[in-house]
Amino acid sequence: MGVRVLLTEEQIQARIRELGAEIGADYPEGPLYLVCILKGACFFLADLARAVPRDVLIEFMGISSYGKGKSSSGEVRVTKDLDASLEDAHVIVVEDIVDSGITLHYLVHVLGQRRPRSLKVAALLDKPDRRLRPVEVAYTGFQIPDEFVVGYGLDYGERYRNLRDVCVLVDE
Ligand code: 5GP
Repeated sequence: MGVRVLLTEEQIQARIRELGAEIGADYPEGPLYLVCILKGACFFLADLARAVPRDVLIEFMGISSYGKGKSSSGEVRVTKDLDASLEDAHVIVVEDIVDSGITLHYLVHVLGQRRPRSLKVAALLDKPDRRLRPVEVAYTGFQIPDEFVVGYGLDYGERYRNLRDVCVLVDE
């Protein structure tokens, strides 16, 4: 399997700097949690957290998602829960990509039950054509076409996560 670059490291980093500045301007004083959805959002979280010009707290949540293939099971399960209570805090869920919306729709519901002061979503990538469930994404990096992408945290069978660019997987 080969790869074709869709978004370069430079494009990704430039966009994350913009998102960081936007987030910095949007929030008042007080605790702001960035909740990273493992594993795909780990590099996005690391770069986004450092692009926000204010104090942030980081948390990690593990969920079961696509498994080894390219299609969703439609079933979401929490495999690692947060360490912190989010009560009364501002929270941004940091996700790699919104596809059907099933995962984020579920996560927003689950995290909303923890009584945060506010709850928004930041997603590096969005495939709007594929949506099955409505999800409001406050901070979107890039809208992309309906193609399976890897790199910058995104995997195919756990491979390709450490590519610096976002790439489309192509049959050779
Ligand atoms: P959704 O629940 O919105 O359909 O899917 C969200 C999850 O599916 C993402 O967090 C990601 O793990 C996976 N996913 C969706 N599209 C892609 C893709 O193009 N490439 C990869 N590697 N994962 C994807």
